[in-house]
Amino acid sequence: MKNIIFIAPPAAGKGTQSKILSEKYNIPHISTGDLLRNTLNENSDLSLYIKKQMKSGILVSDDLIIKLLSERLKQDDCNNGYILDGFPRNVSQAISFEGILKSLDKEIGYVILLDISREIAKGRIIGRLICSNCGKVYNNTSNDLMPVIEGICDECGGSLSRRFDDNEVTFEKRFDEYIVDTLPLIEYYEKKGVLYKVDSSINTSYTKEQIEKILEGN
Ligand code: AMP
Repeated sequence: MKNIIFIAPPAAGKGTQSKILSEKYNIPHISTGDLLRNTLNENSDLSLYIKKQMKSGILVSDDLIIKLLSERLKQDDCNNGYILDGFPRNVSQAISFEGILKSLDKEIGYVILLDISREIAKGRIIGRLICSNCGKVYNNTSNDLMPVIEGICDECGGSLSRRFDDNEVTFEKRFDEYIVDTLPLIEYYEKKGVLYKVDSSINTSYTKEQIEKILEGN
């Protein structure tokens, strides 16, 4: 069973690496950002609240995210493992998560830190494009992540667009939030002996090779 958690600042490659691993190990890629984005079409107060938080680069409440995630992890496709992208974002979520794991009789598994500098992450955010159909991530600023045909997904032919929160102002807030709230998780998971660090600043295939070495115990 492969339970994988990615800890990383925005644009470090969590989405891209999650998709690769999800296909390789046939386990679901669970992005808490996507779970939230899936609720945005509803015309409700909750949907308005989520959009406001996401637009400002501020976290939504722990209670909401824990509820969405625990419902998702109960589904059968998580029985052989899963990849968590964007959760936990702070120590309080990590502590609540231990409760969820206990109730579902699951282990933490591998916590992988994708390390990247603020400057490189910012450069990537500017060029990031996402397929509106299958969610594959592209980047106009990186040769290995450009689509073959501009604006079109190589895999499904869907159209590529920017995320509404991928702009410089929101990026700065999200990176600040990462430093303050998410970085303390490194120490938390280091103490538990489940943390692995990967340099994610070179390119997609280098990052992928490092992750595979960890998961295959080399
Ligand atoms: P992401 O897609 O992971 O970059 O997340 C986009 C936005 O969704 C974040 O800036 C937060 O507003 C919200 N979000 C995603 N995951 C979480 C989480 N675990 N806890 C709280 N808010 C989250």
